[in-house]
Amino acid sequence: MIIEDLDSFYKNMGIDSKLISLSKHIEEDLKERFAYIDQIAEYNQLKILKAMQDNRVSDAHFAATTGYGYNDIGRDTLESVYADVFHAEDALVRPQLISGTHALTVALAANLRPGDELLSPVGKPYDTLEGVIGIKETKGSLAEYGITYKQVDLLADGSFDYDKIKEAIGPKTKMATIQRSKGYATRPTLSVEQIGQLIAFLKEIKPDIICMVDNCYGEFVELIEPTDVGADLCVGSLIKNPGGGLAPTGGYIVGKTEYVENAAYRLTAPGLGKEAGATLGINSSLYQGLFMAPQVVSGALKGAVYAAKQYEHFGFDVLPNGNESRHDIIQAVTLNSPEAVIAFCEGIQAAAPVDSFVTPVPGSMPGYTCDVIMAAGAFVQGSSIELSADAPIRPPYSVFFQGGLTWYHAKYGILMSLQKLYEKKLISFDK
Ligand SMILES: *Cc1c(COP(=O)(O)O)cnc(C)c1O
Repeated sequence: MIIEDLDSFYKNMGIDSKLISLSKHIEEDLKERFAYIDQIAEYNQLKILKAMQDNRVSDAHFAATTGYGYNDIGRDTLESVYADVFHAEDALVRPQLISGTHALTVALAANLRPGDELLSPVGKPYDTLEGVIGIKETKGSLAEYGITYKQVDLLADGSFDYDKIKEAIGPKTKMATIQRSKGYATRPTLSVEQIGQLIAFLKEIKPDIICMVDNCYGEFVELIEPTDVGADLCVGSLIKNPGGGLAPTGGYIVGKTEYVENAAYRLTAPGLGKEAGATLGINSSLYQGLFMAPQVVSGALKGAVYAAKQYEHFGFDVLPNGNESRHDIIQAVTLNSPEAVIAFCEGIQAAAPVDSFVTPVPGSMPGYTCDVIMAAGAFVQGSSIELSADAPIRPPYSVFFQGGLTWYHAKYGILMSLQKLYEKKLISFDK
């Protein structure tokens, strides 16, 4: 029987039989949920396929350009595909956007001028943006260029503080930055629908406010994207969801032509804009990664939901919980002790296709006030669409993990994390 073969393979791969049988119950429980996730992937697959067909993607688009990169039809067509997928006017999709933070920096710096004010109506942005904006004094920040910043936190229940947002908008408010994913914070992730409501509210008060959404970790988790609900700009990293695990580097900025054009002038040089920028032969990976992204994101989502169910079973707090709707691929698990956090990360690392023989240990990291542990065994350095986990070693000892290029790998990684906790007697089956 093939199933018996599978069970003994898991045992050979170090998973206790009690975990294997528990896993079967949990997967049975999740059947309907997984079917729904599959449907979203199917829809997004068609969306991307249609955009590629409409743009007549062809062999010639995979050729490398060098030097200035003029007439890179692969690059230009890919940008047109991205614009169509996001139902946006234009897109900038470049290997020269070195990360999500860089893409966000370019989008902000390109569309703000000295004297303008930036508003975050959804609380504190992602850690790296603190330096970019100048919330934390940093060389080259927007603050250094005379761009001010206002922030309105979410209410205790995670909803928008509409009164305070209204108060915060003034004549200088040029742009709003809206982060979809909770990132590594404890607030809820915003649904695209919620983002649409917020944008409608902002535009009612100030029709010309530029609404930018940090879409990191959110792409293809839902049927629609922020650009479908009024976002003027939507920004993300290609080593997260939309690169499908195949993009070796890059970022994207999609939205209104004027704002994307500003971003292109900021990324390259005033007057050059989108016309230049060699792609050095990586176009095919960017196309193929986008093509694979819905399937890859569905695997990561299944892994996140499955982990929530597994860890709930053992009595841990999880965010989101096993039944909530999902708007990004990040799963947080509160493990209550440093030993459990370390065991969890050891399990994720041991399950990796790359560097499985390495043992992660907590260490100091720039920008953190406590030690941090990270588990990653990725084909692309730092890729977090691949199965990966990070945790600051401080109460309440929460670990944040995400990714998995396939559902089967995500499942094995989570089983391995539980196995490590089990071996260290941090969980038990007799309750
Ligand atoms: C990952 C992430 C970023 C920054 O991306 P990097 O590629 O790591 O620079 C920004 N915002 C959110 C919400 C993220 O998840």
